[in-house]
Amino acid sequence: MNIHEYQARNLLEKHNIKFPKGKVGSTPKEIYNIAKSFGGKVVVKAQIHSGGRGKAGGVKICNSASEAKEFSKKIINTRLITNQTGPEGYLVEKMFVTEITDIKKELYLSLLIDPDSECPVFIASLHGGMDIEKTAESNQANIFKMNCDPLLGIKPYKLKQFVAKLNLPGEDNSQIVSLLNNIYKAFINNDCSLIEINPLVIDDKENLVPLDCKITIDDDALFRNKEILKLRDINQENIMETRAKDYDLAYVKLSGGTVGCMVNGAGLAMATMDITTKSGCYPANFLDVGGSSDKEKIKEAFRILVSDKDVKYILINLFAGIAKADLIAEGIVEANNELNNKLPIIVSMRGTNSESGFEILKNSNLNLRVANDLGDISKLLLELEKTK
Ligand code: GDP
Ligand code: MN
Repeated sequence: MNIHEYQARNLLEKHNIKFPKGKVGSTPKEIYNIAKSFGGKVVVKAQIHSGGRGKAGGVKICNSASEAKEFSKKIINTRLITNQTGPEGYLVEKMFVTEITDIKKELYLSLLIDPDSECPVFIASLHGGMDIEKTAESNQANIFKMNCDPLLGIKPYKLKQFVAKLNLPGEDNSQIVSLLNNIYKAFINNDCSLIEINPLVIDDKENLVPLDCKITIDDDALFRNKEILKLRDINQENIMETRAKDYDLAYVKLSGGTVGCMVNGAGLAMATMDITTKSGCYPANFLDVGGSSDKEKIKEAFRILVSDKDVKYILINLFAGIAKADLIAEGIVEANNELNNKLPIIVSMRGTNSESGFEILKNSNLNLRVANDLGDISKLLLELEKTK
């Protein structure tokens, strides 16, 4: 789960990380009043679950409270499109106003879970700011990493080596050392998968100041982070993925595909996506309805697939173990009728009560093709493609 910049700042401030003074507002009048209380010269920033706002015109240095108000009037209630949002952009409902910091140097700092080393790893670059992606591609020598043992935390000798490599100008390293320690504590205490500060700047007084921050919380740990769950902003999420989450379905939208897949079990789901791809079609999504799939869950999964405009065929591949195939079939038929779906459906279903499951499907008005095995799925997809 992602949270907004202003919420991420609050969370880090609780871990003794200091930011320039700032406040969030949701109307131009509020933005004006906040800017005025800060003396007029401020940075105004759109709050959306995306970076790249600077380049997209969502961050502005304003010289007066009226300029801040005019800027917020232009941005609030519009959809800001950045290089990370996709063409639809995200709705700006709030803007953040902060005091201006004089920047001498922009750095990059993040802490994230690295799947290769299976550790939290700090990444830092002396060339942070809005072009960090380019630096990451072209200037690897300026990117430094430090792995942290998940049980032991930051080891002092590694920390010493890391900050020595960074060689920050005008720093006796006390500021960076306490910042790294505090970020690490915040990361562990809140089950984060990412804390990113870009830019982390050295200001005119040679202090180390974070100017932006992005935090992602591990979804699987949200059950024990009730306070953080309150920060969720569903207006910033993909509607279908949000609906899937509410029904405990593992759903990921994939771009470029036409086959809506409904499968139970992640392994079977992956194999089904492979078969789909091998046959020359592409999956429009990953969707695992889980082991003990009940009827309501199946119906919701079907609704999600049909409401995806990219989907031209539906492929259902289920192994009924704990779940019962006849119940699943009833869910599919009910959802199909409710939505008046005409899209062709390929079904492969095995396991508990699969025979009565197939009876239910065959006696319905589904636009149905039955596959007996994975090879059949491939053949049927090819046939559908040919008659397109
Ligand atoms: P992002 O583009 O979404 O990552 O938004 P940021 O909050 O990082 O802002 C974009 C850029 O605006 C930063 O990289 C800075 O160069 C600039 N910026 C943000 N805050 C300040 C500030 O207080 N002073 C100055 N001079 N520039 C700022
Ligand atoms: Mn940034």
